[in-house]
Amino acid sequence: MCDCLFCKIIAGDIPSSKVYEDDLVYAFRDIQPMAPVHVLIVPKTHLPSADGVTAANSASVARIFEVIPQIAKAEGLTNGYRVITNCGEDGCQSVKHLHFHLLGGKKLSEKLD
Ligand code: AMP
Repeated sequence: MCDCLFCKIIAGDIPSSKVYEDDLVYAFRDIQPMAPVHVLIVPKTHLPSADGVTAANSASVARIFEVIPQIAKAEGLTNGYRVITNCGEDGCQSVKHLHFHLLGGKKLSEKLD
């Protein structure tokens, strides 16, 4: 069994507030939201970070970017939003399963660092 928090969430072993699911992608609300809307979008297949994306596994990443506009629309993000992925130590990635933060619902900070 995968010893990964987000794999356990995808499997339903740890509860989450699901906002979207298909065969490749799972999306759920961040437990510590940084904005009025803060959704995490993850590939169902374990992939440690953006640094591990290859031609062989990028279909789930492509799907994530296809569903982001759908989730944003469903969440009422009509005035824009931000998509972020943290990668590795310097990127301050805390959960080692590739995930994209979808943030919106307010005017976000111009600072990215
Ligand atoms: P990162 O720092 O980019 O790796 O982001 C990990 C995110 O996962 C953080 O924003 C956390 O608040 C979020 N998080 C951690 N545990 C959970 C959980 N059980 N359910 C939802 N979000 C979580």
